[in-house]
Amino acid sequence: MIVLGVESSCDETGLALYDTQRGLLSHALHSQVAMHEEYGGVVPELASRDHIRRALPLLEQVLGKAGTRLSDVDAIAYTQGPGLAGALLVGASVACSLGLATDKPVLGVHHLEGHLLSPLLASDPPQFPFVALLVSGGHTQLMRVDGVGQYTLLGETLDDAAGEAFDKSAKLLGLGYPGGPAISRLAEFGDPDAYKLPRPMLHSKDFNFSFSGLKTAVLTVVKQQGAAGTNGANICEQDKANIARGFVDAIVDVLTAKCVSALKHTGLKRLVIAGGVGANRQLRESLNAAAAKKRFEVYYPELEFCTDNGAMIAFAGAMRLQINPDAAKRDYSFNVRPRWPLDELRTI
Ligand code: ATP
Ligand code: MG
Ligand code: FE
Repeated sequence: MIVLGVESSCDETGLALYDTQRGLLSHALHSQVAMHEEYGGVVPELASRDHIRRALPLLEQVLGKAGTRLSDVDAIAYTQGPGLAGALLVGASVACSLGLATDKPVLGVHHLEGHLLSPLLASDPPQFPFVALLVSGGHTQLMRVDGVGQYTLLGETLDDAAGEAFDKSAKLLGLGYPGGPAISRLAEFGDPDAYKLPRPMLHSKDFNFSFSGLKTAVLTVVKQQGAAGTNGANICEQDKANIARGFVDAIVDVLTAKCVSALKHTGLKRLVIAGGVGANRQLRESLNAAAAKKRFEVYYPELEFCTDNGAMIAFAGAMRLQINPDAAKRDYSFNVRPRWPLDELRTI
């Protein structure tokens, strides 16, 4: 069975073809980062318009790369939510129009289920059950995963998501948008003892997180340097790196500690990381060290599938269809779900 996946929930247009027999056939992505950069964040209207421009050329690309025709596709999966309403509507209408034109069934996929299952696309995929840490731009959640659609929320952030904390702290240091990768690179040159920033909720004895205080701590340090509101312009490079290091060490410590206690609590020995922050080098190093010490296995998505992409949507759609072939329908009236908690999803 070949599934075409269409992702358009935020600022990446992603298309992909996944074959349940042969694996991922092809994928193509267009990131709008350069377009949104000058505004310091995603501008929803611009995002929607750009998805419209990119979707069909990307479709041609994935079909061409896979040597497949649209008529060979068995079903079309698209991101139904959560995400930006206008952006989601573009992907949904593209998927449903293609379905209608070619008489293919369509199904709406949960974006976070896509992230969550993306490590299963790697060459050495984890077996169920596992503990999953979903760390993306909009979410930070710890889950127990017993199978496709079997997700139990253990805890989540009470305020900012991890990716948001990375981006906002990076912005305070004048590192552009999205600043996650930049603050991580800069931290490599920082002195770990220069700034000890707070580790919010480290000892809270639950699986919740809070990162807004950490961002405020970065702001306080920036203010102490007399550089508030200047985008870090009058902080010297070494000091910027020191602040970046203080921030990264704090967030990585909290994420690692909560993963370890979730594993202890559930008695599971497999940890799976998903979402954009899963690409972070320091987080991977810290989790790998904890895994060696505490004797558990840790799995990551391929780097290119940490942030948004079409492959994870095609894959999640294919997994759903393997459980229930009727999950895709020749019903082309669609609605998107900008807000959609993952634990509302069940195996159908
Ligand atoms: P959601 O999936 O919750 O709707 P999203 O789709 O915007 O949010 P992703 O695409 O999974 O989120 O991830 C984007 C986030 O990942 C951004 O906040 C970005 O800064 C962060 N990120 C990407 N690479 C890195 C990295 N190497 N280090 C730290 N953060 C990173
Ligand atoms: Mg993005
Ligand atoms: Fe995402």
